[in-house]
Amino acid sequence: MSLRPFTLVLVALALGLGAGTPAAWAQKIPTPEEVLGFRVGADFHLATYQQAYKYFRALEQASPMMRVFEVGKTPMGNPMIYAVITSQANMARLERYQEITRRLSLVKGLTDDQARALAAEGKAVVYIDGGLHADECAPAQHNLQLAYDILTGDDPATRAIRENVILILVFANPDGMDMLAEWYLPNVGTPYEVSPMPWLYNKYVGHDNNRDSFMGNLVETQHLNRIVNEIWLPQVLYNHHQTAPFPARIWIHPGAEPQLANVHPLLVRWQNLFGTAMGAAFDRAGQDGAISRTVFDSWYPGYVSQVVDGHNVISQMTETALFEYATPHFYTVNDFPEPYRDFLVSTFYPSPWKGGWWRLRDAVEYCLTASKAVLQMASAYRQELLFDKYQMGRDTIARFRKEPPYAWIIPQDQWDPPTAVLMLSKLQKLAIEVYTADKPFTSDGLSYPAGTWIIPMTQPFALFAKTMLEEQRYPDLAKYPDAWQGLVSPQVFKDAYLPPYDMAGWTLPYQMGVKVFAANSPLEAAMSPVESLVAPPAKVEGAGTTYVLSPKVNNSFIAVNRILKQGGEVYRSREPLAIGSETLPPGAYVVPKGLSAAAAAALARDLSVPIAATTKGVPAGSLKLKAPRVALYRSWVGEADEGWIRWLFEQFEFPFQTVHDAELKAGELNRNHDVLVMPSMSTRSIVEGYKQGLVPPRYAGGITEAGVRNIKAFVEGGGTLVLVNEATLFGIDKLGLPVTDALKGLRAERTWGAPPADAKPAQVACPGSVLRLQFDPKHPVAFGMPEEAPGVCNESLAFRLNPTLDGKTPATVAKYPGSSVLMSGFLKGEPLIQNTVAAADVPLGKGRVVMLGFGVEQRAQPHGTFKLLFNSLYYGASTATAEAAPAAATSAQGRKTASK
Ligand SMILES: [Zn+2]
Repeated sequence: MSLRPFTLVLVALALGLGAGTPAAWAQKIPTPEEVLGFRVGADFHLATYQQAYKYFRALEQASPMMRVFEVGKTPMGNPMIYAVITSQANMARLERYQEITRRLSLVKGLTDDQARALAAEGKAVVYIDGGLHADECAPAQHNLQLAYDILTGDDPATRAIRENVILILVFANPDGMDMLAEWYLPNVGTPYEVSPMPWLYNKYVGHDNNRDSFMGNLVETQHLNRIVNEIWLPQVLYNHHQTAPFPARIWIHPGAEPQLANVHPLLVRWQNLFGTAMGAAFDRAGQDGAISRTVFDSWYPGYVSQVVDGHNVISQMTETALFEYATPHFYTVNDFPEPYRDFLVSTFYPSPWKGGWWRLRDAVEYCLTASKAVLQMASAYRQELLFDKYQMGRDTIARFRKEPPYAWIIPQDQWDPPTAVLMLSKLQKLAIEVYTADKPFTSDGLSYPAGTWIIPMTQPFALFAKTMLEEQRYPDLAKYPDAWQGLVSPQVFKDAYLPPYDMAGWTLPYQMGVKVFAANSPLEAAMSPVESLVAPPAKVEGAGTTYVLSPKVNNSFIAVNRILKQGGEVYRSREPLAIGSETLPPGAYVVPKGLSAAAAAALARDLSVPIAATTKGVPAGSLKLKAPRVALYRSWVGEADEGWIRWLFEQFEFPFQTVHDAELKAGELNRNHDVLVMPSMSTRSIVEGYKQGLVPPRYAGGITEAGVRNIKAFVEGGGTLVLVNEATLFGIDKLGLPVTDALKGLRAERTWGAPPADAKPAQVACPGSVLRLQFDPKHPVAFGMPEEAPGVCNESLAFRLNPTLDGKTPATVAKYPGSSVLMSGFLKGEPLIQNTVAAADVPLGKGRVVMLGFGVEQRAQPHGTFKLLFNSLYYGASTATAEAAPAAATSAQGRKTASK
């Protein structure tokens, strides 16, 4: 360390700048270079999270204007931190400003005059994160430079930011930041410098961490949601990304259509204003190529930016241009798509980018310009932003005093009660107030008992509750050409398919199999707030040493896995089972041995699973379970769906082994596994993987045709292959199953930008929606399902089943009904999907292929259909019993088991 910084402080003091002024602090504050050893964004360099952590702690030490908070640990054990940056004077009153933003956000108990006074006193709270998508490197790197620049800048604009704004600067995916640097840096200078990382860039789901925001499954999402909804309640939230529509250099708001209706109009106005301010900042700085109003819409609330729309937080999302990691790239106009080669100036792309070098530092500079534009806007409009957040909440409360839905009613009597509680707790974690009725009440002619849950709409973030609980009606944009085309004479595109960027429908009660009623008339019910939503402990009822668990309750899977792990004996009844006053549907778990009374009571208590004790024996023809030896395929392509399934297996305590291409190519799969699960992915990704030369050799090439032969041999030898969603096509394409892809050539292919000239208009399109399904609850894969239930479908798959050559018939597990298929979202060409098969059990040799042709576990959201995946594992490791098994007290003699 040189003495230079200290000397400069002395010079500053000598010049009469007080020690407390930013200029003086600036001299003591370490630059990123001093800690990293390289400039932020330098070619071929990436700061790790460890370095970022060290730098932020150093800044905190050096400046009274920055404090670092840890919100919790990541799944890989990193401390997840964020910085608070504001003036020293603000820092001294931080708790007061936190209270002001909370009171204005929550509205209640304030008059307009009081709100105005608080807005005058308060500071704008602005949340900015970097690094959510870790392979989009620039935003996380920009965090380091942004912290330094805001702490040390001595220009009027930066001084005003520190004065008027409290910046919450967040690292959104610490594990990913390290993983990416660890992958890239050793590859620099090798043929694999820009190879994609052959695994997901966090412990579980990689890119889908930006689809988890309303569900909050991932620990990191929970931390981000806590920062936003519990701790800071910001006015503005800015979530950085790095995949601009090429050749644009950054995508900024305004966004594409459609706009979700459940927002206060002020929110959309502010969003556009912030985006336009960013655009102006780029053009002022001579940074060309900012584009708006294309590709990214504001429809799906799974994103970090969109989830807060209903919370009246003005969100910004940007997509800065990316080449690969920190490797620079030179573009000529010949690299551009045809329509961009003439540098056409347009309303939402007024400064076209003309090509040249693009370096990580350029991307970092664009991120910095954008972040600083947001901070300057927040600084300039501090008071208006604080008051408008109050007003948006106030208007929302007033609106739903006058119009339906007045409330949401959630009965305690549910198919799967602990899952209903889970749904409510997820809403509560996102700042939705949940109440219980003190007394019986009626609504719209229906009566409800005391204890019924109620979500009144007279709350500031009610629009978020509405977004989650209602059915979505995704607009067919072809009908509204004026709304989106931006042409002098909008054109009508008959049969155009204009899908959303992500899901069209997500209705949470449908996904989770929870019964919810909207109150269409003003609700009069005495109610009390629920502080903490935890499923109540259940009990063991009845007497006897045989225990029966309900197949309707998802938590029963956890209980059964624990019983199997401890060597207990578990059967599944194929017929409905009467226990006490209740009749359980087919699939009830019967445990005649290996479960003590104390252990049964503990399971009931800990998992809220009601358990019945009985003296009856195991019903005739039950399936005998053994702990399934499950293999889960993990491709080097890094599929998010694999991560979700792995996460779910862990949550529900299913033991499993991960298998890669090598194991599938080696074969002999029956030796170690009963069940092989293939996550949703294309046949091509499974079989071919990454091309040779794109990644180091051990990660290239997929399972190959050898893997296909081995999987087929595994099934023919008695194994169970479970194909999830898109992977069902692998079964049709590669295994010769007697199943027809009913929508082949009819379904929409997802394309971004102009479709190929020879593209046929899609006859059927289902961009991530909730569809009605009919189940066969007597089939072991659908055990515990209602006869009709919603399922998540993402680009339609539908089958017709044919008999096999040896006369075996595939069984339908789930099918689409003959009418009213769409429940939430968008479905084009519904008649083509009516009465087709959605899930099937297809015999092959001595084994079977379970085809689950929809998103049974997509993003770990549809709790209502998890059963199909989990049942498939048990089914694959079960044996049929021909006769009644003996009651617990008698010996096992006389029981026959046979392989099905
Ligand atoms: Zn991204």
